[in-house]
Amino acid sequence: MKIVRFKAGDRIAYGLAEASGVTLYDGSPFVAWEATEVLLPWESIQLLAPVLPSKVVCVGKNYVEHADEMGGEVPEEPLIFMKPATTVIGPNAGIVYPRLSSEVHHEAELAVVIGRLARNIAAEDASRYVFGYTAANDITARDLQRKDGQWTRAKGFDTFCPLGPAIETELDPLERLAVICRVNGEVRQAGFTSDMVFGVAEILEYISAVMTLLPGDVVLTGTPSGVGPVLPGDRVEVEIDGVGTIANPVVSR
Ligand code: MG
Repeated sequence: MKIVRFKAGDRIAYGLAEASGVTLYDGSPFVAWEATEVLLPWESIQLLAPVLPSKVVCVGKNYVEHADEMGGEVPEEPLIFMKPATTVIGPNAGIVYPRLSSEVHHEAELAVVIGRLARNIAAEDASRYVFGYTAANDITARDLQRKDGQWTRAKGFDTFCPLGPAIETELDPLERLAVICRVNGEVRQAGFTSDMVFGVAEILEYISAVMTLLPGDVVLTGTPSGVGPVLPGDRVEVEIDGVGTIANPVVSR
């Protein structure tokens, strides 16, 4: 199933993506929801970020070739950091190029959407806590990341976490799913989820031993090699097999 969140007129709602449109649901998949009889045509809706998380927890250097291009080794255990919830934007929303940076990079990533409260979970049970998967762009002010020594500012600007276009509930990241980034149509990153150093189950065990993951929280699983700059006027896309493509313009502040 592909679940979308959208605006139709004044209403913001969840729905199920179908070929001819979106079946409107009452409620939210993270609490309780129910299908209605209403099918909204695609042209009548505007897609939003498919979830509003309480937090976005990320894994750094989780692909060997990316750790390499960053001039480091793959960490011995998952390297985690966070992006504030206010970084999240949906399809076609502008990534605002911040005044404080002159080197903003794209990072295409598979995002895990948590379905139920997860605290101290074991890797072998992790799939029970996963609601589905979506595509993410872990936008990073690379110059500030180098300068600060920690990543809160570099990763935390408003609009720095495009998510979408939908949450796919039937996806196996252990399969060789392509993770692609394009800038103005040109491929910049092309990796496979099967090349992650730490898999989704291991990552969720690791994070949930530190902090409780709530329904709707989002975990970014790291980016393959090929990260690079974007500039105002660019259009950046992240495509993941089975999920779809999220595209966003980069806009001036
Ligand atoms: Mg990243």
